[in-house]
Amino acid sequence: RAKARGRDRSELFDDRMRAEATRLLDLEADLRRAILKDAFEPAFQPIVRLQDGSVVGHEALLRWNHESRGVLAPGEFIGVGEDSGLIEQVDWLLYSRVCGWMARHGEGYVSINVSPRHLRSDDFAERLLRMLDDAGADPRRLRIEITEVALLDDAPRALRLFNILREHGVLVLLDDFGTGFSALSYLHRFPIHALKIDRSFVSGLDGEMHAESLALVRAILALAGTLGIDAIGEGIETARQREILLELGCAYGQGYLYGRPVPEPAAPGKPAPA
Ligand code: C2E
Ligand code: MG
Ligand code: MG
Ligand code: MG
Repeated sequence: RAKARGRDRSELFDDRMRAEATRLLDLEADLRRAILKDAFEPAFQPIVRLQDGSVVGHEALLRWNHESRGVLAPGEFIGVGEDSGLIEQVDWLLYSRVCGWMARHGEGYVSINVSPRHLRSDDFAERLLRMLDDAGADPRRLRIEITEVALLDDAPRALRLFNILREHGVLVLLDDFGTGFSALSYLHRFPIHALKIDRSFVSGLDGEMHAESLALVRAILALAGTLGIDAIGEGIETARQREILLELGCAYGQGYLYGRPVPEPAAPGKPAPA
């Protein structure tokens, strides 16, 4: 009996594995088709000065106009994109849209998210600069967001890439800071312009994890202060979170409190509609 039950269970498990494998293969095939159709577009979320809520720029976030499922956020497909390598092509299509948008909208910073895969390519910086130039977009308005883990992958190569970009005015932001087992000794070696404090710490500021989050955010801000770099609080949803961040000395922020990602955001300068 036990044996029979065991077999049933493993068959069930196999079925589920097969279904999941099929789902991922379908998604990958969809993604390939979407690349041919250029079915991606940026949604822009405001980044504000916490003091007065004025918009200093936007983060461009990837959206996929799926033929049957509607608009998909990266959480639904980025894993497949990374595993298959297709994310590189998707990113280039998106960056091209972002450059076009920058050329049409003359103000404010725009940050793009960069897959760790790009840091392993030899001509990422050159290709990005060429794309900006072709579109007539000012590189000094562009920032790239990368995660801590991506840095550790191939540090010398990443450093070379950042230096080329920085020579042209493209700044580097460290995304989701605090979640990636930061190798602190590495930080000061890279030309990092700002740390983005991960949403998990920000949302904890007025939740159950208040004390822990407060301590962590304070430590991250002290680190940023020591390195002389800016900090941007991510995922600010409440006035209380904004208030605490401001008290702790975080100058910039982003989150639903200030605005959700949208295809055509309001121009920088004005306060974001809260
Ligand atoms: P991220 O770079 O940390 O982006 C912030 C994510 O948090 C976005 O989700 C944004 O919509 C969401 N968010 C912002 N404010 C709030 C808030 O107040 N509350 C909550 N609950 N969420 C908030 P999104 O757009 O789904 O992007 C998820 C992740 O996908 C990004 O995290 C980034 O790692 C990745 N990603 C986004 N765009 C691109 C891209 O163009 N290329 C690559 N390679 N990755 C991208
Ligand atoms: Mg980001
Ligand atoms: Mg982030
Ligand atoms: Mg994130």
